[in-house]
Amino acid sequence: MFDGFLYSLERGMYKRFTWLSTLLFVALLSAAPAYATTSLRVLASFSVLEDLVKRVAGDNVNVKVIVPAGEDVHRWELTPPNVLALEETNIVFYNGFGLEPWIHHVQAMADDQLTLVEVAKKADFTPLAISTGLYEGEPDPHMWMDPRGAMAYIDVIADTLAEHLPEQADAFYARAEEAHKALTDLNQVLKERLDGIPHTNRTLITSEAGFGYFARAYAFEAQGVWGVNHETQGSAQAMAKMSEYLGEKRPRPSALFYESTTANIHMDALSRETGIALAGPLYVDSLSRSDGPAVNYPAMMRHNADVMHAALGGARAE
Ligand SMILES: [Zn+2]
Repeated sequence: MFDGFLYSLERGMYKRFTWLSTLLFVALLSAAPAYATTSLRVLASFSVLEDLVKRVAGDNVNVKVIVPAGEDVHRWELTPPNVLALEETNIVFYNGFGLEPWIHHVQAMADDQLTLVEVAKKADFTPLAISTGLYEGEPDPHMWMDPRGAMAYIDVIADTLAEHLPEQADAFYARAEEAHKALTDLNQVLKERLDGIPHTNRTLITSEAGFGYFARAYAFEAQGVWGVNHETQGSAQAMAKMSEYLGEKRPRPSALFYESTTANIHMDALSRETGIALAGPLYVDSLSRSDGPAVNYPAMMRHNADVMHAALGGARAE
């Protein structure tokens, strides 16, 4: 037992020695600015948030995503590569407000090495309530659909990264400032594009009611067949409710829209039933893959505005 104690003592000293040499090595590296070190590993829960995190993180922070572009963040299940990536991760940025029902599996893995940040909940931005379905009345998670909501996300991301890497805080805040400018410009571009759509035509009917924040920002009325994608979708009751709404709505909506991560069967059925044209896809819960029209957040928002502009008679009014 005593031998064992000596052995662990020696081993402890050895560990301490290697730890000190590692520290010395890292100190030498940081003394030479030519060697950029990646000292922080970050995961974002979905592709839209990944894009926002990358705008602040810069090249020295390793940023990866849990739910890849093209997949639905609401209905994801952690994969073995996700679990391996989580084991090496320092920070997980997730949207929260129920967007990722699977996040409790990540929370179960959290320890001193892993910080979880619920971005929408921490963001300085007034939440809206989910307008329909099983989760009606709870905070609507789709806050990024207003560029000013995305700006509030940028601030949470910059604060978190600065806390973890104080020596790079100035760089994080400088990039956050740039992102704010880009998003302010984007907001203006969207406003001008959408201004072409007559006010009587500003009705956004989608599968998921994910356009609440967008509607508040750009003076639309938004309705979905269901509230959030992870609830039972397109039940007979929800379809009947939407069908009734469309039958009574005056003026008649010019278009129904489907989203990139949702099969368009429900909107297609409503379109055939009502004779209202079907348009899309709109991007909400995911960016497109690299060959698509929504490879980053501004491209996604501009693409959505273009689809709406074409489908809701923007061109005719101009
Ligand atoms: Zn959604």
